[in-house]
Order: sequence, then C-alpha cells, then structure tokens
Amino acid sequence: MHFEKFIAAIHEEFPDDRLTYQKGVATFHPESAEESAGLFVLAGKHRQKLFVTGFGNNIVPVGAQFDGVVAVKSDRLNQLTRVVPEDFCVEVGAGYPLKELNQHLKEHGLFLPHADMPYVGSIGGALAIGLSALKDQHPLPIGRFFVMAQIAVPEGEVIKPGSACFKSVSGFDVVKIFSPSWGILGMIVTATLRVLPLTAAEEYKDMSLMPVEYAKFADLYRHPGENQSALYSLKIKNKFDPANILPLLK
Ligand SMILES: Cc1cc2nc3c(=O)[nH]c(=O)nc-3n(C[C@H](O)[C@H](O)[C@H](O)COP(=O)(O)OP(=O)(O)OC[C@H]3O[C@@H](n4cnc5c(N)ncnc54)[C@H](O)[C@@H]3O)c2cc1C
Repeated sequence: MHFEKFIAAIHEEFPDDRLTYQKGVATFHPESAEESAGLFVLAGKHRQKLFVTGFGNNIVPVGAQFDGVVAVKSDRLNQLTRVVPEDFCVEVGAGYPLKELNQHLKEHGLFLPHADMPYVGSIGGALAIGLSALKDQHPLPIGRFFVMAQIAVPEGEVIKPGSACFKSVSGFDVVKIFSPSWGILGMIVTATLRVLPLTAAEEYKDMSLMPVEYAKFADLYRHPGENQSALYSLKIKNKFDPANILPLLK
C-alpha cells in the first residue's frame, strides 16, 4: 500500500515524465541534484526503499531482491559540465558514459586513464563500484582521481564534499568515501575528476581492469573492525540515511 502512495506522491511532486517503468520496475529519472534529494525526502516519508542505478549493464534492478523497490536512474544526469584545463579537472554528470570521456578531453590535451578501459558503465557507476585498474602490478582505483562531488543524500540534502584545488584536504577526505559506496550512501549527481596531460598517456597504456569487489565492500560494511573507510561509511550512513532507504543489496 505504501508503494502506491509513494508513486502517487511522485506524480504530485514531479513532472510526469520523471517516472517510467523499465522492465516493469518503477524508475525515477532525476534531472538535477535537487530532484534526487526531493525524491529521497519523499522516500523517507513513505519508508520506501530505493536503488540507485547507472546503466545497470550487469545488474538490472529486477528480481526478487528488488520487489517493491523503486530505481533512481542517472541517465538524464549525463552532461559534461566543465573542463578546466589549467586546473586539470573535469566536472561530469553521473550518467555520462565513462568510455566517452577521453574523446572530449582529447581536444584539451587531457585524459583520464580509466576511461580508456573496456568498462561500459556510467561514471557514477564506475565511482560507486570503486572501479580499479592494475598498473605496474599495483591497483589504481578510479577514486584516486575523484576530487569533488555533488551528492544527494537520503536525508534530502545536497552535499558537496571535496575540493578541486591541488592542495590536499587536511584530515579525512569525505569525497573518497563515496568510491566505493555501491549506491548506499547517496546518489552521486556530478563528479569532478582530476585528469592528466595527454603527454602522460603512454605511462598508462598497459593498465588492465581488476575484478569488482562487491563482496569485500559488503563484508567490511557489516564488520568494519578497525577499517577507517568502513567506519566513516557507517558514520555517513547513520547520519544521512537513518531510515535506510538505500539498503545494502545482499
Ligand atoms: C551488487 C553488484 C555486484 C556486482 N558484481 C560484479 C562482479 O563481481 N564482477 C563484475 O564484472 N561486475 C559486477 N557488477 C557489475 C558492475 O558493477 C558493472 O560494471 C556495472 O553494473 C556497470 O554499470 P554502471 O556503471 O552503469 O553501474 P550500475 O550497474 O547501474 O550500478 C553499479 C553500482 O553502483 C551504484 N551506482 C550507480 N550509479 C550511481 C550513482 N550515480 N550514485 C551512487 N551510486 C551509483 C549502484 O547502486 C550499484 O550498486 C556488480 C554490480 C552490482 C550492483
């Protein structure tokens, strides 16, 4: 019953085209951070579980574990908003395809190493799963390049952790907590990524993709022990999602 009420509330608060049914799953398509945050507020009121999704290439939110869940899809948050060559950074919507980024950065003499890898997902998805490459036998997570973000958190705020300037933040850099975060801490709406000059491309050409580590993330989330990132994740989860509208999948 609460599901129908939630759907009715979406129709009341948002333009009709924001809600579609993809493979039968009610799917909300926010067009801004404020719309994502607005949906989260409604979900909190209606105790409605949500699942944030990018392209969902491998995991489509369909099946028993998604029964009664509403998907929130980043496909309309797909703009390349800013390229700032002098600061070596780019701001991009979460729904932008990772593989397309370097085509646009090329004209500025820039590139992002992970965008040349055979990964077919969105940038938001790549950050959320903690996409990582093996470079010279060491892991190079995409999060290393993730410097700033606009994130809609379940309590209904839009937070902007991080900084695009080169001086590093003193203390814990909160933006890093969102990579990986597997969609449970909020929706990455835009990401600012540090990029590199094309002259360095040769150095990154032999990178290979590493396996995705959902099980490790889920284990740490359940049993953080002394792991600092996991402890910060849980703090953020408790602060911003007390009603657990973005649950851990399995
Ligand atoms: C639970 C799970 C386990 C997986 N295990 C493997 C595996 O073992 N091996 C493998 O090769 N691939 C695995 N994948 C698939 C891998 O995540 C894909 O590479 C990915 O699905 C590609 O599509 P995407 O980037 O559009 O992200 P999606 O598939 O749409 O989303 C991937 C994850 O990121 C989160 N997410 C997406 N966009 C955002 C956003 N804007 N803000 C916050 N969170 C976001 C989602 O909630 C989801 O948890 C797994 C996916 C999931 C969800």
